[in-house]
Amino acid sequence: MTDATHRLPTDTDDGLVLIISGPSGAGKTTITRGVERAIPGSVFSVSATTRPKTSADVEGVDYHFVDDEEFERMKSNAEFLETAGIYGKKYGTPRAWVMEQIKRGRLVILEIDVQGAISVKSQIPDAYAIFILPPSEEALLGRLRSRKREDEDVIQRRFGQAKREIDEARSCAMYNEFLVNDVVDDSIRRAIDLVNAERARRRAARA
Ligand code: 5GP
Repeated sequence: MTDATHRLPTDTDDGLVLIISGPSGAGKTTITRGVERAIPGSVFSVSATTRPKTSADVEGVDYHFVDDEEFERMKSNAEFLETAGIYGKKYGTPRAWVMEQIKRGRLVILEIDVQGAISVKSQIPDAYAIFILPPSEEALLGRLRSRKREDEDVIQRRFGQAKREIDEARSCAMYNEFLVNDVVDDSIRRAIDLVNAERARRRAARA
């Protein structure tokens, strides 16, 4: 994939796509950002979305917030590696940017749902995928409630969706690892160890 004429001195063959998925309330964003901070040369893929920006979101850091028309324009221009419809809103992973970062040898982190993981794995089979699980259903429900972001009926809907997503993740056979997030700092450590071990394994296989 690397074009010798455009290879920079800093490019390496160490490029890896890391998919991190998990139901809302499982703590995947905290783990994703923890991995990104700890592993040098890792980059977070900023998706485009049509969902409204919340006060917690930063444009260009968490997402690129676009309207439906702009999303469809990007999609028809083949700008996305994959797209998904979630809670009636659209999400898409930037294709050219991700491919460029792989070429540069980066760890490219995609925080995407199960449909997205299936689609990325079909195009980039050596992507490495981790699914974050809550310690229990009770703990998940407790976390969804403690965020105080939504009303109880929305929480129940998200809870039902989370259970379906966990079932889907288990049955699709796309995930290399399932990581139970009990104590978040330990989970970040375990995720970092998994990624470092995987990269070392691949480096050894190439040598
Ligand atoms: P939220 O709107 O709560 O930030 O994200 C909702 C869900 O969309 C999460 O499971 C998140 O991982 C997923 N997601 C975010 N960006 C993308 C994307 O580009 N593609 C896919 N397939 N899922 C995404």
